[in-house]
Amino acid sequence: MNAPSSPASPAPDDYQDGNALAGPLAEVFAVDVTAAVGTCAGCRRNGPLARLRLYGHAPGLVARCPDCGQVMMRLVRSPTEAWLDLHGTLSLRIALPEV
Ligand SMILES: [Zn+2]
Repeated sequence: MNAPSSPASPAPDDYQDGNALAGPLAEVFAVDVTAAVGTCAGCRRNGPLARLRLYGHAPGLVARCPDCGQVMMRLVRSPTEAWLDLHGTLSLRIALPEV
């Protein structure tokens, strides 16, 4: 599968909050990552993925930083696989149960 091209800038108010990522990402991760703390590669903002602005009009889901608009995550689901691009995320801190 080829990476989707960079989406054009969406309308500023045409998005959902990052909580809408919970369902699509539940297939990929064993934990709910919407509470995970991501660091934006554009402005270095730290915050939970639930605070991202999620756009669903691209070929897949595009999650942007609420502060600078950087694309932090893209998720494309084909019939047989998921393609997750975290190019705009410097790090992702995921809380796990203590072992
Ligand atoms: Zn940012």
